[in-house]
Amino acid sequence: MIEIRGLHKSYGSLEVLKGVDLTLSKGKVLVIIGPSGSGKTTLLRCFNLLEMPDRGSLKLGENTFEFREGAKIPQKDILALRKDTGMVFQSLNLFPHMTALENVMEAQVTVQKKKKSEARKRAEVLLEKVGLADKADSYPHKLSGGQQQRVAIARAMALDPEVLLFDEPTSALDPELVGEVLKVIKQLAAEGMTMAIVTHEMKFAADVADHILLMDDGIIIEQGSPQEVLNNPKSSRAVQFLNHLN
Ligand code: ATP
Repeated sequence: MIEIRGLHKSYGSLEVLKGVDLTLSKGKVLVIIGPSGSGKTTLLRCFNLLEMPDRGSLKLGENTFEFREGAKIPQKDILALRKDTGMVFQSLNLFPHMTALENVMEAQVTVQKKKKSEARKRAEVLLEKVGLADKADSYPHKLSGGQQQRVAIARAMALDPEVLLFDEPTSALDPELVGEVLKVIKQLAAEGMTMAIVTHEMKFAADVADHILLMDDGIIIEQGSPQEVLNNPKSSRAVQFLNHLN
């Protein structure tokens, strides 16, 4: 489903990704953890080219890219990739002037050119799935942070992406609202949705991940099952990071 090889990314003189390799199979959940500034978000944003890597390669479904410094990727290839990836951001970023239902309908109408009636039906199904059928006509400012993030998940799923990407989906939420969002993500995992998730929630990572990547300073320092990475880390840096959390 996703194969990344030798991925490098710098911002000016700051090298943020220093050669990342990873594989994510269909129906699996990849969780990326690591200290602040280690490159987790940058890596995730390379999956759908919100950040453009300098070197390396990416294969996501049928989309394949080779990156070379200075070489431009055609916009149509980027758009094709984006249709195959749904993303949920840390910040609650629904369209404020649209209801929950309209938020979930939007891309279906503008990108997929679906009829409004068809888009509405699909949006209703998705809102039901995230437990918000009764909030379809509410505007974002009338919803709690947890509800907004669940609408954002429904919106990310609206184009039937191959993979869902989550960038710290609960870190902007009050603690009591975190659980309802994690519950929806876990339910999607159980249904076989392929997902890549950046999170600081270690208990959730342990629960939901098939595979965990632990990043430090732009490289993957540990990877494997939650049991392997969280309970039996090999490197001293990983031990230090995990101990620091407890
Ligand atoms: P956190 O857990 O704090 O979100 P992270 O592991 O996700 O951190 P990134 O957000 O990927 O880390 O950032 C990695 C490094 O790249 C940091 O030093 C950050 O300041 C820098 N960085 C990220 N985005 C940009 C940008 N657009 N321009 C310049 N530097 C950036």
